[in-house]
Order: sequence, then structure tokens, then C-alpha cells
Amino acid sequence: MKSFCNPAQTCLILLSLLFLTSCGDTNKAETATQTADYIFKGHIFTAEETAPFARVVAVKGNRIIAVEPSEIDLAYLTGTNTKVIELGEKLLVPGFIDGHTHFNQAGKQINDVNLLKVASDTALKTELTRVINIIGTDEWITGGSWGAYESWQDGSSGANKDDLRSRWQPTRQSIDDITPSNPVFVNSFERPAELYLANTVALRKAGLLDKPVAGMDLDAQGIATGLIRKDSPAIAAIQAVVAEKSHQRILNEARAALKRLRENGVVEIHDITKTDYEKIYLELQDNGELTTRVWMRADLARAAEFNEKEIKINTHPVSRQEDDYLRWGSYKGYIDGIMGNHSALFFDPYEDKPEEYGRYRDHTSDDKEHRIENMEKMYAYLKEAHRGGFTANVHAIGTRGVSLMLDTYERLQKEVGGSLEGFRVIHCQVVRPQDLPRFKALGVIAEVNPYHVSDDMRWMEERIGHERSKGAYAFRSLLTNGATLVFASDWPGTNAAEYYSHPKYLLHAAVNRTTLNGTPEGGWFPEQKISLMEAMMAYSINGARATFDDDVKGSIKVGKLADLVILDRDIFERPTDELLSMEIDMTMVDGKVVYERL
Ligand SMILES: [Zn+2]
Repeated sequence: MKSFCNPAQTCLILLSLLFLTSCGDTNKAETATQTADYIFKGHIFTAEETAPFARVVAVKGNRIIAVEPSEIDLAYLTGTNTKVIELGEKLLVPGFIDGHTHFNQAGKQINDVNLLKVASDTALKTELTRVINIIGTDEWITGGSWGAYESWQDGSSGANKDDLRSRWQPTRQSIDDITPSNPVFVNSFERPAELYLANTVALRKAGLLDKPVAGMDLDAQGIATGLIRKDSPAIAAIQAVVAEKSHQRILNEARAALKRLRENGVVEIHDITKTDYEKIYLELQDNGELTTRVWMRADLARAAEFNEKEIKINTHPVSRQEDDYLRWGSYKGYIDGIMGNHSALFFDPYEDKPEEYGRYRDHTSDDKEHRIENMEKMYAYLKEAHRGGFTANVHAIGTRGVSLMLDTYERLQKEVGGSLEGFRVIHCQVVRPQDLPRFKALGVIAEVNPYHVSDDMRWMEERIGHERSKGAYAFRSLLTNGATLVFASDWPGTNAAEYYSHPKYLLHAAVNRTTLNGTPEGGWFPEQKISLMEAMMAYSINGARATFDDDVKGSIKVGKLADLVILDRDIFERPTDELLSMEIDMTMVDGKVVYERL
């Protein structure tokens, strides 16, 4: 993509030439008129540092062909087929670029059971009914991770943590009437899960209905209730009969995730892409269904395999050429765990678990050989990635995890040489003051998850204390120290937390630093708030820079791809406590309107 409109060229867009180049369709080019397809007039945020606001934008084909600072009449671009959109109170912005998603999981969370917030029979029935209406009558319903928020209700400030209810324990009787043909095998949120629930159909398929085994709860008559405790052999017995998801069901999950992204104004994702999932993306692209650009981040342990196959960064998996929609991106690695289970690596122990400092994390691969037990192995992976011209984006959460990752990048720069442009530390959840300037010094990007602030602040100080919490989600400090921030949702979250892909959640958290209920008043460590302008940059142009695409994406500028979003209000003129009410009114990707709010 870079070659098409490189900043070194004068990038002057002559319309007929643009048509010839971008469409490659000569007939169309011959008949192409000089007029725009769309003209937007009103409040416009461009994400261009030198001129962040504009009044008129024109689009032709898949490109932006005019950006005007004042509301002039673009008569020369307006033809009979030009759609002129008066924005009124609304705001046109560059499409949102989400720096971190787990797309395959997201589709699953939408079309399959999501029990994170479920902790009652009624809620379980409601969620199962929703899923049954989406999937086939005999298909399995599995997973779900119930009860993650049982003690942390959504929007809670965490102040009532002593008010924990005793744990909910469902039985098959509560769901059998709504699942007469779908086998159900769901579990609670812990890893490994503490509790499982199988309905009658599932127990029968596994031969356990009449022959219960150890670890299965029985009623007064000695009959299985469907509730199964961890370590029970019943778990493996049921898992052995769970039917694999059909290809159609997986495709439908992907479609549901794409729909959600369109509705949320997300025009590109930097996805954590599991081995073989590229096939799903390819199929969607072939069908013309890929309405979000995808930068696929394969596991860092695959660097050697990719080098062997001579795969290059920013190229399409089949054509091996540059591609607007689907490309291989950086490799994704892990160094440590997460704070939720005290596995993020710290220099000092956890406050609430004084013997625990966190630990290195198993690599994403299940292959033991790929686990990172030490930084030498991580370094070897990075070198291999660098050798093939790839960059790496590595998960690091605790102070020691972040610091070690920066050390390792520094070593790579010293020993191998060259730029670290495009390398990232993912999450950067808690950073020591002395590590803050190192991002700029090394040219490493801080890929951050603002919404986690709204969720995690409720237990952060309890885990790591007040002093260390000053470096948690320290976006202001990172910016002051010259780091580049890329916003990322981590959608759809983990087995213990739900994260959203709607930009309002990330913007609200970065700018207001409160829970969804607006607590604590004034924000959590309010000195770390950043401005809406800084947040919007981190959500657009910085995301494009991180993939070496800022010459064609990420802002509203003549010559760039027409990836545009209309917000229902001018968020720059409204109070920031309104951010959570913001809606997406229209999403345009590649010059095509892919979503309009009715
Ligand atoms: Zn993630």
C-alpha cells in the first residue's frame, strides 16, 4: 500500500488517474466524471496534527479527494450523483483503528454463550435462549465462563467487596426445558474452571446420566444434578463427545464479529490471529464480506516457519502482495501473565500475596518447546522475527515484565542494529518511572488498553498498593515522556473480564478515568488523564503509523483511503462525561458505507 501514495511523491490526486490506479478498471476510468461520490459538510476532526479540524471533505471511489478548512462550496466536485451530507451537530472522524483484538473469540462471544455476567438461573436461561435462536437445533453449547462478575458487578466501584454472595450453583433441571435437543456443557470462569454444568442431553451423550462418576453432584435420590466439580472424570468424558463446531457456525461467528465492528466504527483491527484462522479471513474476503481491514498478528513462535516460507510483513497470505484488507502484521508474543491471577511479573511482591512476584507466561503455543522460561529464548524469537523483516508486539503487564521487554528490545537494537519502529510493548499496564523515557529512546510503541482502567481500578491498589498504582495505565506520563500510544480494546476480553470494541468505552476511560458509573468522582489517579485530542490520535493516526501505513490511512487527508465515521455528536464540543453516550451514526470503509444507524 505504501507504494501507491508515498509521501515522497507529491500525492497530487488527479481524479482520472486516481480512478485508473485504484480501480484498475479502464471502462470506468474512461467514463469517470470529475465529481465526488460524497461530500461531508460541518464538524470534522481530521487527526492531522497541523490542521486537526476541517469543514468539508469529499470522497471519490475509495479515496479522500478534498479537505477544506472552511465551508466553501465545492461546486466543481458536485454532480448529480454526489451525495452531500450535512453533518449538523454530528462529527466526522477518521475510522477507528483498534490495535488489539481477538476476533475469533469475539465472534464466539457474540454467537455462543457469554456467561461472564451470569450468576442466576434466570440469567442463564435468558442467555441460552438467545444462543439457541442463533445456532442449529442439535449443536453443542459450550464454555461461557459464568460468574466472572459475581462479586464485581458491572459498573461497581468495588467498595462493597465484603458483600460477596455465596456462589451460585446451577442444575440441569433449570435449563432442560429450553434445551431439549441442544447438548449444553458450560463452565464457571476460573482457569481451570471450578464448576461445570451439563444438561440432560449432554449427560446422556456421554453415558453419564444413569452412571454418574466421582465429582458429579447428586440429588437426594442419587441422580445427577448436572453440576460437576473440577477434577471429575466426567469432564473428560463429556469433552470427548462434544462435536466440533461446523465451518458454517465458525463463519457465522466471524460475520457477527464483523457486524459489531461496523456498528462500532472500527475500520481496522490488529488481530491476534491463531494458526489457520487466516483461512476464515480469506473466505470472507473472497465473498466480499470483509468490511474491516485486518492486520493479522501470528504467534511469535512462528517466525522461523514464516521465514522458511518467505512470508513478508504487510503482505496478503495468498497473493503475497500488498493488500488493502488482509495482511500479515507483526508477531505477537507474551512475556508474563495477568494481574487478575497474580501472574504479571513485578520487581516487588503483590501486596495481597506477599510470596508472589508473578511469572513468565507460557507462550501462546501449547507446545512446551515454545514456552518462554527466560529472556534468552524471547531474544532468539525476536532475532528470528527481525531477520525476516518482521516486527514484534509483546504482551508485558507488570513492572518487571515491561522493563525486561524494553531491555530485550534494547539488546536487539544494539546487537542487530537498525530501527525498532513498529515494535510494541502490549498493555504496558504498570510501568516504573525510570522505564517511561525508554519507549521514546528505543522508538517502541506503547499499545495500551484504556478501558481496562474502568474495570481494573477496583482492585488495583489492593493488589499492588498505592505507590505502584501511580504507574498503572500511566498514559499521561507515557505521553509526557514522548511515547507513542496506540489504543487497543483487547476485545472481547478474557475468561474473567469483558472488554468492549465500541470506542466510547476506551475514550471515556482514557479521558475521565472512572468506572462506567462515573466513580470515583474526578477520576482514578486523575493526573494520568489525557485529552480527547490525544485519545483520538491514539485511536486513528497512531494505529496507522504502527503498521507503517500512515501515508494512506489513519487521518482525513487528501489521497488517503476513505475510512470515515460519523459520530452522533461533536465530542470535542460536548462535556467529556457524555462520552459514554456517544453513538456511531455511519461507518464508511474504502469509500463504501458499511453501516448506518437507523
Ligand atoms: Zn489480548
